[in-house]
Amino acid sequence: MRTTQLASIIIIAAIACALGVSSRFAGAQTPPSGYAHFTSAASLWVDGSNIVIQANAVPAHKSPYFTPITNPQYEAYNGTNPNYAQNPNHIGSQTIEFRIPANPQVAVTHAATPLGPIGVAVNGVPLFNQYAGPNQPLTNEINSFDQYGGHPQQTSMYHYHAEPYALTTVNGSDSLIGYLLDGFPVYGPKENGITITNADLDQYHGHFGPTADYSGGIYHYHITAASPYINGTGFYGTAGTITYTLSASPTPTATTAAATPTATSTVIYVPGVGGIAQESDLPQAPAQSSTALRSRVTQRETLAAAVVVASIICGSWFALRCRNKQT
Ligand SMILES: [Zn+2]
Ligand SMILES: [Zn+2]
Repeated sequence: MRTTQLASIIIIAAIACALGVSSRFAGAQTPPSGYAHFTSAASLWVDGSNIVIQANAVPAHKSPYFTPITNPQYEAYNGTNPNYAQNPNHIGSQTIEFRIPANPQVAVTHAATPLGPIGVAVNGVPLFNQYAGPNQPLTNEINSFDQYGGHPQQTSMYHYHAEPYALTTVNGSDSLIGYLLDGFPVYGPKENGITITNADLDQYHGHFGPTADYSGGIYHYHITAASPYINGTGFYGTAGTITYTLSASPTPTATTAAATPTATSTVIYVPGVGGIAQESDLPQAPAQSSTALRSRVTQRETLAAAVVVASIICGSWFALRCRNKQT
């Protein structure tokens, strides 16, 4: 009797578990196993031969780019880059839809990656390529990466050009980081305990082999410490499409924490048709502290008061002098 009850409990638990896993994804079909790494920050479902991923690009981890500093996700920079220079942008919610081939295929002609999103990490944050603009290296932008490896661009879209430390710290340096738009997975900088370098990878920044999620072997990209970090000279496979809305939102303040977009425009990237230049996130000039600003205001107020007092004294003196002349 006890054995039967135990067996029933196990069966019920197994069914509940299976339902829980399948309910993680909307729709009837379940995406390939690697997509199980995505957090609830992204919505996923299978649409025909594509995996559809919708995300808002707001990381679950903290960042100095969450403003104002009263934002619960704000964390001052505490990374190791002595040249860190925060850019003037802030993190804002986006509307992005990736349509990625469920069965990735090597492309006949390898399309260059666009500026803007080229893939998506398992936490719903877009992956960007190794450029800040058309053929412009990330020389300055690197110093604006926060302690988790990302930064927002001018329309508040947070993204990673290189290793997302929040993911590799928690999931492991050999974990699945996300997928590029061609449906091939991106892994962290380690494999079987060894750090991968550019020399281990082809021109697209990947290689073929078994992974924890694809035991039969699959072409996959690796993130490296050196440029080009995530992708090399273009997509290895035939890329899907991205649709996203650029929302230019005002900088949140203590009284308007929930910034509302002031303007929107929709960008659709179709491989071969072209992307859009998204990076102009240069480090900002040193910010004036509120104390310095207050001091300047006080100086101005003192000067104005002195002018008024001087005017009164002069006016009184002239009036007195005129009266003395008349008498
Ligand atoms: Zn960037
Ligand atoms: Zn590998």
